[in-house]
Amino acid sequence: MQKNTFYKLIIIVLMISLLAAGCGKNQAEELPEYKGSDFLMDTLVQMKVYAYNGDKIIDESLARIRELENLMSVTLEESEIYQINQHAGKGVQVSQDTLRVLNKALEYAELTKGSFDPSIGPLVELWGIGSGEERVPTNEEILKAKNLVDYRKVMISPDQKVRLAQPKMRLDLGAIAKGYAADEVSKIFAEHNINSAFVNLGGNVLVFGNKPDGSDWKVGIQDPRENRGNVMAAVSVSDKTIVTSGNYERYFEKDGVIYHHIIDPATGRPARTGLLSVSIISDSSFDADALSTSVFIMGLEAGKKLVNKLDGVEALFITDDLEVDITSGLKDKFELMSEDFVLIKDEN
Ligand code: ADP
Ligand code: MG
Repeated sequence: MQKNTFYKLIIIVLMISLLAAGCGKNQAEELPEYKGSDFLMDTLVQMKVYAYNGDKIIDESLARIRELENLMSVTLEESEIYQINQHAGKGVQVSQDTLRVLNKALEYAELTKGSFDPSIGPLVELWGIGSGEERVPTNEEILKAKNLVDYRKVMISPDQKVRLAQPKMRLDLGAIAKGYAADEVSKIFAEHNINSAFVNLGGNVLVFGNKPDGSDWKVGIQDPRENRGNVMAAVSVSDKTIVTSGNYERYFEKDGVIYHHIIDPATGRPARTGLLSVSIISDSSFDADALSTSVFIMGLEAGKKLVNKLDGVEALFITDDLEVDITSGLKDKFELMSEDFVLIKDEN
């Protein structure tokens, strides 16, 4: 009798565990995968969502990104940023979204002592990188545009009006708006209680939860020498964002020199600090976007120092000499996939 009960118990336990394992597996397998993409914020936006109503979630997310683009684009005439720029010298009322992004940009301008500067517009316009009208400006032109770049002259009044202190100043939120958009999409994923999704805004990647099978996502790091899609390493993460700034995103070549789109406000020229790209891994895409641009301009040493000061932020640097440096938190998550690159071993 006792023996019988014992066997029954074992069988019940076995059945429950089989059932539980089966349930988990089926649930994951049954969830349909939906994919969506669009060209928004000057870049290709791609999404994958694992949920029964994944198509609706993707539509809602793309609509939200479009809404943000319409507020913060430098080129769309109805955008708030365009209006601020057109009316430089006067105050322009802005939305909560634009205000949030501008405030964060100014925070990073303070933090980096102006290496990151959302009033970079006159220099971006002058170089015209990515506009089809790129050229190397004269020293005089650079000096003139550089004198218009100063984040301390961006005024925000308590009634949510933004005013550029000088008439020819220009805002450009291109280095941070995609990060904000990625976090807004992540909020939409959370509202729909989904467990697994992925969004990439042209190198601004956010993985939501785990992969549908419960494992980590493996996010590829772009080979900075190659066309998009060529990966030289991978980082395994869940519920994180990986944002990369590199000199290969937008550039032109003249007399063998590469002129790219990340400009050092101190020189008025494309930042040259010995880096090909910087990837920031963290919980907030908003911060990671601002940081990847900042750190790219600051260079390896100063950039690494800044990252190490911040909680929950990791970074991956690729130097001109194809050396890869990673912060300590990435050691077990990083996999080098190309023999052309060398991983720098940290002594500590
Ligand atoms: P991407 O937009 O290619 O992902 P980034 O996030 O690094 O790359 O942003 C680069 C963009 O940021 C440039 O195209 C320009 O609009 C803007 N930008 C360039 N230099 C600076 C700077 N020093 N501070 C803030 N924004 C900048
Ligand atoms: Mg950025």
